[in-house]
Formats: sequence, C-alpha cells, structure tokens
Amino acid sequence: MNADPFGLSAMSFLRCIDLYRTICLFVKQIVLAGKTCMPTFVMDELSKSYMQVEYAPVEISAYEEGNSGIPFVWTFDSEREGPHAMVCGIMHGNEIAGAAILDRLMRSGLRPTRGKLTFCFGNPEAYERFDTDEPYQHRYVDTDINRVWGAELHDEKNQDREVLRARRLRPLVESVDYLLDIHTMQGRGEPVALVQGKRAALSLISKITKIPFVLTGKMHQADRLRLRDFSQFGDPDSPAVAIQVEAGQHWEAGAIDEGEAIALQFLECVGILDPNCTTSEQSQKQLEIVEIVLPEGGQFEYADDFRNGTFFPKKGTLLGYAGPTRQEVRSPVDNCYFIMPVHFRLNGGSCGRFAREISNAPSDLIR
Ligand SMILES: [Zn+2]
Repeated sequence: MNADPFGLSAMSFLRCIDLYRTICLFVKQIVLAGKTCMPTFVMDELSKSYMQVEYAPVEISAYEEGNSGIPFVWTFDSEREGPHAMVCGIMHGNEIAGAAILDRLMRSGLRPTRGKLTFCFGNPEAYERFDTDEPYQHRYVDTDINRVWGAELHDEKNQDREVLRARRLRPLVESVDYLLDIHTMQGRGEPVALVQGKRAALSLISKITKIPFVLTGKMHQADRLRLRDFSQFGDPDSPAVAIQVEAGQHWEAGAIDEGEAIALQFLECVGILDPNCTTSEQSQKQLEIVEIVLPEGGQFEYADDFRNGTFFPKKGTLLGYAGPTRQEVRSPVDNCYFIMPVHFRLNGGSCGRFAREISNAPSDLIR
C-alpha cells in the first residue's frame, strides 16, 4: 500500500519544496533588481580605471534633524530682504562629494547677510547605501530623484522613495530664487554647469567664473523633468535660476574643493553674502549641445581617455567605436567640445555630448 497520500515519496516532496524555494528566491531577486536599483552597467577596462574612490564619504547623520521641518534640510534666514538661495548635494547617492561640500559649508558657520540660505542633502537614503567596492551603484534607491519633477509628483499611486522625498521638498523648492544643485560626473576634467538657455540663467552663470564650461540644450530625447527644469526654473519668463553643476569626477578628492569654491562664488553672486560678487577674468565657455552620442547596441569604446571639455577642432575626428560592429563615431562639426564622458553606462544610455559655443549657434537659443 502506498503511504504517500499525494503520490509522492518523502524525498520527492522535499525536492519539490526546495525547487519552490529556489523559484521564490529567483523571483524575489528579479523584483528587487528591478525595484531597488542595482542596474546593470556596461563597463570596459577604461571604466574600471575610474573606480578608485579617493576619500571616505562623510558622516551626515548629525544633519538629519534639519531646522526646516524636512529631514536633512537646513534654512537660515537673515531677517533682511533678499532672495532665497539653495545649495543641494547628493541628489544622486553615489555622488558623495556633494555631502562633503555641504558638510564644509555647514561647519563653516556660513550665514546670509540678506535673504535666506538653504542647505539640502537631496537623497540621504541612497547616499547611506554608498559602497566603495561598487561606487557606481546606489545612484538612487527606487528611482532617479533628478527625473521625478514632472508627472511623478502628482501621481499618488507612485510611492517610490525618491518621489516621496521630492513631494516633501517641493514647497521649499518652489520658494527658491536661486538653486545650485551640486553633482559630480563620471569623466575627469574641469567642472561643467547645465542650465536653462534663458537669459536670466546665462547672465548669472557668466559671473560664476569658477565654472569653465556651461551647457544648455536638451540632454536626452526621452527625458523626464529634472530639478533644474522644475516650476519657476523652467519658466522662461521667471527670473528664478537653477544651476546643476558637475563639479569634477565622482570620486576624485579635487571635486570637493572645486564644488565648495563654486558654491561660495554662487552665493556671493546671488547677493546673499558679503562681499558681493567678486569675479575673476577667468574665461568661461557657454555651449549648446549639437549631438548626444547614443551608441546602438549599447557597447561603446572610446578611442582615447577623453576628459570633460576636450576640444575637437575638426569635424570628423574619431571619438570611439560603437556596437558589436565597432562603427566609428566622429565629431559632428568643427570647433566642438566633448562634454561629460560616460564610463559606467546603462544599456541604451548616452556616452556624452558634443557641444559648441553659443556664439556659433542660432540666436533663438537665448530666450
Ligand atoms: Zn548626479
């Protein structure tokens, strides 16, 4: 007589349980991979040479309390009339220089002499996950907080942690006249700012001479709204200005010094500090994008270790090889600059942008 009421031996039954557990674990891993970041990056030998983290992330738990009603956000009011300026860092969790810069500014005891000054640690949850062994990961937890400033804010079904954080920050952000959002980039080289092409933005940024490159124009075809394009900042008729600066390579210690110097000059130039705006004669190139490099098939290999802002005097100069057929990618016009090389690239992501000086561009760019 068969003692197994289900027609299975005890051993088969245990194997079934094991298989069930394995399938559950596999499904869970897929869900976690899709839901809580861990994207797959396309990397090559050059990418790996960019992975060295030169400094430890600063401890930010002391800033959690805030004084604005929002965790990790600190506002100081001079009680005198003037604009509201905001400096943001770590909107992307793995861009750890932003936290070090805010830490330095907070510790310095900097206070506005006019208007208001806010310091904002953008995405502390992602920052706290930073891992020196995999520094390119943990840009975010659920979704990129620098892409949720459009429809996502109004979609109540969307409960991604970054969307909740953006909703919390929104009323404060809407009260800001001048925003400096400090990021870092994958490529080495001098800082570059990304701004709206409107006159108010180009006028302010021209005074911030510690930023040698300024980029305007559409960054990607299928973009969702970034903080710098949100609300008043994206309105061509508003005097409000948002500057997103890429202060240097993510994990080079020099990015901290560069970012701090830029933040201080920004705060002087928006008129909330004394002395007021002291700019040097340092030259600055204001550029517009002429081509985004989007290699088909995802693969891309640079022909050289190009730095941010590399000048390509001649059209047709080799940048690298795209896809499995190694199709050559070349500069699209004379006298262009290669901006923000990408070394930890998501499949389908861009490899950087070619840009040229606005003085060579159609005049309708400046609104
Ligand atoms: Zn960033």
